Amino acid sequence: MKRSDLTQHARHYINGRWETGVTAGLSGNPSDTSEVVAEYARADRSQTELAIRAAADAFPQWSQTTPQRRADVLDQIGSEILARKDELGLLLAREEGKTLPEAIGEAARAGHIFKFFAGEALRAGGETLPSVRPGVQVDITREPVGVVGLIAPWNFPLAIPAWKIAPALAYGNSVVFKPAELVPACGWALADIISRAALPAGTFNLVMGSGREVGQTIVDSPLVDALSFTGSVATGERILHSAAARRAKVQLEMGGKNPLVVLEDADLDRAVDCAVQGAYFSTGQRCTASSRLIVQASVHDAFVVRVRHRLAALRVGHALEHGVDIGPVVDRGQLEQNLAWLKIARDEGAEHVFGGETVQRATAGYFMSPALFIAKPSHRVAREEIFGPIACVLRADDYEHALALANDTPFGLCAGICTTSLKHATHFRRHAKVGMTMVNLPTAGVDFHVPFGGRKGSSYGPREQGRYAAEFYTSVKTGYMMA
Ligand code: NAD
Repeated sequence: MKRSDLTQHARHYINGRWETGVTAGLSGNPSDTSEVVAEYARADRSQTELAIRAAADAFPQWSQTTPQRRADVLDQIGSEILARKDELGLLLAREEGKTLPEAIGEAARAGHIFKFFAGEALRAGGETLPSVRPGVQVDITREPVGVVGLIAPWNFPLAIPAWKIAPALAYGNSVVFKPAELVPACGWALADIISRAALPAGTFNLVMGSGREVGQTIVDSPLVDALSFTGSVATGERILHSAAARRAKVQLEMGGKNPLVVLEDADLDRAVDCAVQGAYFSTGQRCTASSRLIVQASVHDAFVVRVRHRLAALRVGHALEHGVDIGPVVDRGQLEQNLAWLKIARDEGAEHVFGGETVQRATAGYFMSPALFIAKPSHRVAREEIFGPIACVLRADDYEHALALANDTPFGLCAGICTTSLKHATHFRRHAKVGMTMVNLPTAGVDFHVPFGGRKGSSYGPREQGRYAAEFYTSVKTGYMMA
């Protein structure tokens, strides 16, 4: 792998200082495997403990700052991110492989999230209620939780850290942030901007390295009061058990197998748009991806033909190349996993409709064409999260059957329906067992100022984003007083 002028040197940020790691690692570019994107510091258990200790020491001071101070800090961070969104987007596209427009959009979203929570810092209020006892006053206030450990995945390397860090700081908590190993440069770039916002030393800390060492140290530390994790179900479950054992507050956002229902009365062009966008953009590497396309029998064949036609027209290639619709898969491991899924699909009898080939381009990258199968509800390819550009179509007899199929999953993040029937849309919104519903919209692509999260195996604990984030990042206190 080659280093260049663009190679970042990403160090930890601990107690207000940039620190080298105990060891070093490299992150690469999935569109061009010859390029080194970052040389980054990796911590061990004791270096991670230094960051946690710094956050614990900083908490009393930061938790006492005025809302105005916190709002100013967050506003400054948000402004810098927005002003530099093109440059940050470029870094993101190089390190994670999203297309450049998608990556710039994600950077802008991260900036807006900080701006939103700048406002929330000023709006955090309480309640006063009359007591049932004469002469007694009751008030309900929210206090910061303490030190929060934030553990993020690779697929939204700016937006997901932003939607954890911004509310954590807005409500007066101190932070230890661990980005995923595939995207340290994005985590570092965010920390670099945060470091200029005049936070007291130790209020925000970045530590990079492995999940098993750095992540697990954060999860197990008695000094960490709350843990917010986004990632796979397997890791989430491990974190839940460790956190529960020591009674830490915990919030988990995990996988999805999201259905998009297409009824016979749908605008079929719109339904095809929703399916292609939701299932394949960002290379299908979204927890909100529409990986199950549940289509009413009467329009099933026409829908499959149109989706196939659209997939054939999509351009797969280097994330920075103009006109590319689908960038590379994030790394070799994920590509191999996707290819293994294609074999599983064929072996269990799913009908292959399109794609799934590895694709050669001018640079060596992890490129594959989007794949579509017609599957049965019992097939693994229709039940388990793949996290790649692979979707399956399931045939439904009628609306009731489609709803039953949509809910027949251990996951419950989001669900969409394409229909012109007010009756069916209304019923679906009420009866889909998920945290988010979409009508005539792709399942992926959500606003930054409203709650995000799911049910069943997808999520655990309070919602992220919007003002609902206060549930996790604050602790409620009820005060009684006799005048
Ligand atoms: P992952 O679980 O492998 O890793 C996520 C993070 O956890 C990384 O930072 C990793 O280093 C860390 N980690 C790993 N082991 C750990 C341990 N023992 N203790 C503490 N931390 C540990 O997930 P990933 O591959 O980075 O991301 C893909 C997954 O994320 C998919 O399943 C996807 O659905 C999910 N995801 C969910 C949402 C959502 O909001 N629901 C959003 C994006 C991604």
